[in-house]
Amino acid sequence: MGLKELRNWQQERANEYCPKCTSTCCNAQKFDISMDVGDAELFLQNGIPLIYCRDLAHLSFNMWLGGRQQIFDKSDKPLDGPAIIRREHPFERDFLYAFNPPYCPFYDNKRNLCKVHETPRRPQVCKDYPIFVRNETLTFMENCPPFYAYENRKIAFQLFKK
Ligand code: SF4
Ligand code: SF4
Repeated sequence: MGLKELRNWQQERANEYCPKCTSTCCNAQKFDISMDVGDAELFLQNGIPLIYCRDLAHLSFNMWLGGRQQIFDKSDKPLDGPAIIRREHPFERDFLYAFNPPYCPFYDNKRNLCKVHETPRRPQVCKDYPIFVRNETLTFMENCPPFYAYENRKIAFQLFKK
């Protein structure tokens, strides 16, 4: 399968679309992405704290995922900055990257760019977004209008099937 071709094409298109995009991905007001330990390293090295779910107020993280705007610690104080929340869920990827709010600490909101775009340690989910490969099929994120456009989905499928 042409995964390499797909990713090369995706990168070229992203260089064109992302700097002028007004949609929300890296600059979403409420944000969660899943990461593994290796992915989390880049954030930990840059001073983003790691907080275990068990050290938060009961169900606070689940409620945040469900729509609540803030995450609260055990003393019911809202977290006041970005953090990596470790879930330790046996059936899911271990880490969740939570911004609480306003957006990723590596996002340059003046230039609409990821400041660590060229870093090999940028999380895999960021490298893949908005086209994910699951069980040998492609999934497109609807909240990325340029890549979700029918023409681009068609091209992506064709490249992937090569
Ligand atoms: S929504 Fe899509 S086009 Fe816009 S910045 Fe994100 S990945 Fe790029
Ligand atoms: S690391 Fe870069 S691509 Fe990933 S969420 Fe942050 S700004 Fe976006």
